[in-house]
Amino acid sequence: MEARGSVFIVTGSSRGIGRAIALEAARRGAAGVVVNYVRSREAAEEVARSIRELGSDALVVRADVSRWEEAKSLVEAAVERWGRVDVVVNNAGILEPKPFAEMEPRDWQRMIEVHFYGALNVAKAALPHMIQRRRGVIVNIASVLGLRPEPLASHYSAAKAALIAWSMAVAKELAEYGIRVFAVAPGGVDTDMARVWGDLDWVEEEVPVARLAKPEEVAKLVLDAIENPYITGDVLTISGALL
Ligand code: NAP
Repeated sequence: MEARGSVFIVTGSSRGIGRAIALEAARRGAAGVVVNYVRSREAAEEVARSIRELGSDALVVRADVSRWEEAKSLVEAAVERWGRVDVVVNNAGILEPKPFAEMEPRDWQRMIEVHFYGALNVAKAALPHMIQRRRGVIVNIASVLGLRPEPLASHYSAAKAALIAWSMAVAKELAEYGIRVFAVAPGGVDTDMARVWGDLDWVEEEVPVARLAKPEEVAKLVLDAIENPYITGDVLTISGALL
């Protein structure tokens, strides 16, 4: 699907990878982009300003995607403004490293709620609009940790593995409606999230290319894949050989 003229919802696009995807969509001529956040309102407004400077329309919507009603209103806001949703990028995420022995049920519940239920909520809310027009792309930002799980991130790894499995299965169901679904699994990316592990010493030790990916490098892959009609049910890694 051409990004040019399409309407995008990018969850968690106030910062990091989501921000880069929203801006890359605008660079490629998106008709409109929903910038979504939960806490960083100012940052989200700033992203929307940059999108408008690039010539696309932008709408800022606060919604916790893990809540069904809020995910629904996120989609409704786009439909009200532009009459359609062409692309959903499920990018919103959190990472709180912790040994399983120290976790409480709320820790793994929240991880699954945000990464897994959050993606399903927004996809499900957008689906009727996509099916009606027989046009749509759903991108799920997973992680190499969903393919190669890590200690201290067992809940995160499991949530991303679930998201990958769901993407592959649902792509098979939705192909008949002309709707594509795929996952993108980055390694380490230079955002706030990469810093939750403390300092960045692990990058030189563990990443063979000895650096983090730039959010823009991930965003370009996401947009290239959206524009490639044969990519569906696939898991695209971008890991600097970390995988
Ligand atoms: P980030 O810089 O921490 O940004 C996270 C974004 O998600 C923010 O916009 C945040 O909004 C939003 N968010 C968090 N919880 C939300 C919720 N419940 N509802 C809606 N939005 C929510 O993270 P990032 O590094 O860009 O990560 C983006 C995605 O890539 C995540 O799914 C992450 O798991 C994945 N990923 C990241 C890396 C990495 O190394 N950075 C590697 C592989 C995969 P606020 O600003 O309002 O808090």
